[in-house]
Amino acid sequence: NNFYRQLPKVELHAHLNGSVSSETIDKLIARKPHLNIQHSMTAIRSGQRRTLDECFQVFKVIHQLVDTEEDILMVAKDVIKEFADDGVKYLELRSTPRAEPKTGLTKKRYVETIIGAIQQCKQEGVDIEVRFLVAIDRRNGSEVAMEMVKLAEDFMLSSDGVVVGLDLSGDPTVGHGRDLLPALQKAKSCGLKLALHLSEVSSQAEESELLLDLPPDRIGHGTFLHPEVGGTCSLVEKVRKNNIPLELCLTSNVKGQTVPSYDKHHFLYWYNLGHPCVICTDDKGVFCTDLSQEYQLVASTFDLSREAMWDLSQKAIGCSFAPQSVKKRLEQTWAELRPQVL
Ligand code: 5GP
Repeated sequence: NNFYRQLPKVELHAHLNGSVSSETIDKLIARKPHLNIQHSMTAIRSGQRRTLDECFQVFKVIHQLVDTEEDILMVAKDVIKEFADDGVKYLELRSTPRAEPKTGLTKKRYVETIIGAIQQCKQEGVDIEVRFLVAIDRRNGSEVAMEMVKLAEDFMLSSDGVVVGLDLSGDPTVGHGRDLLPALQKAKSCGLKLALHLSEVSSQAEESELLLDLPPDRIGHGTFLHPEVGGTCSLVEKVRKNNIPLELCLTSNVKGQTVPSYDKHHFLYWYNLGHPCVICTDDKGVFCTDLSQEYQLVASTFDLSREAMWDLSQKAIGCSFAPQSVKKRLEQTWAELRPQVL
């Protein structure tokens, strides 16, 4: 649908290696034919479902394909351009820095390469503003978490404002947020913004209670926070008291089977409360979607008007980690485009 493509959009929850398109996967496979990787191993097509555990296996396959500086540069540039082509005007990318001893890749070079890709896209005139969040994979424990905070802090000071914060992600059934609290507190105290995956599975209530006291600046998914699905009023109150925006990814949650069907997605619960909700893709490559499609899906599932969808996309500007000057510019872009799109 043309309207959703033309609608200016903000993407705040996109994992780099989950966002790799099938065209880019083709280029990666051509670089590494010996790995014998097929598309069925890197993407979950329409109508297919996987368990969350199987989804995490997919990331392992993609990581095999993306293990050099050249790969990361290509992947990041392709992903940024694809979001721009889809009408995304502001993108916050997140990725877990990886060292690959085989190819000489270090975590620091990993981040530098992504920053380089962002700068190259800017020089090439790609019509999109991009920021970066350093991701902590929870399975790697407290020491690596602290290392990532230091890395993010260094880059926050040296990257001309490209690195703005931290993400906490990775398999929600592994590890406990309690162990990561010191790292997250340190990050907050040095001015890094926090976007944390919370209550993605039902067993995380106690952890979410703890992490919500930080409080984080945004919540990824938050699928099981509210009482209707086994969460608690106390969790909902903490989220509402601090007005913490939720990053909501419908296709990802339905294909990953943490939500039984589109109409049962927790978007409706929070939207009806008037709580800030940001529609996002999560992993547009793995889940075969894009942000236009996610907006269209929300509109058709919950019967929302184009005006309501416009408001959702505009309000997402305020939920971003961009500085005031960038937010102001984006508001201007939305105001200019409104008469011709809506
Ligand atoms: P990368 O950080 O390598 O750029 O992107 C892939 C990684 O993002 C995965 O290995 C995983 O740690 C994280 N990730 C991607 N999608 C999800 C998701 O839906 N839930 C969680 N918890 N983590 C995810």
